[in-house]
Amino acid sequence: MATFFCPHCKGKTKTRTSRGLSATLRELIYQCNDPECSYSFVVEAEAVRTLSPSGKPDPAINLPQTPWAQARTQEHQRADAEPLSTTT
Ligand SMILES: [Zn+2]
Repeated sequence: MATFFCPHCKGKTKTRTSRGLSATLRELIYQCNDPECSYSFVVEAEAVRTLSPSGKPDPAINLPQTPWAQARTQEHQRADAEPLSTTT
């Protein structure tokens, strides 16, 4: 679970509740540990990018690849391409 500090007093917080809004989005309610502050707030945690593809992919989930991961994949594709083709 991601640690969030209180936006107001910068103190430590704890998760009160969390609920899934979708397969990629979760809503978490944090509360400041400082009893004088006790600010509570909502954090949305969302899966936004793919680092490496799933071995059990869900067709409904289509997250864009992280640019550097994409660059690496393209490198692999280039390496697997026709060895006789020449680049000029
Ligand atoms: Zn606080």
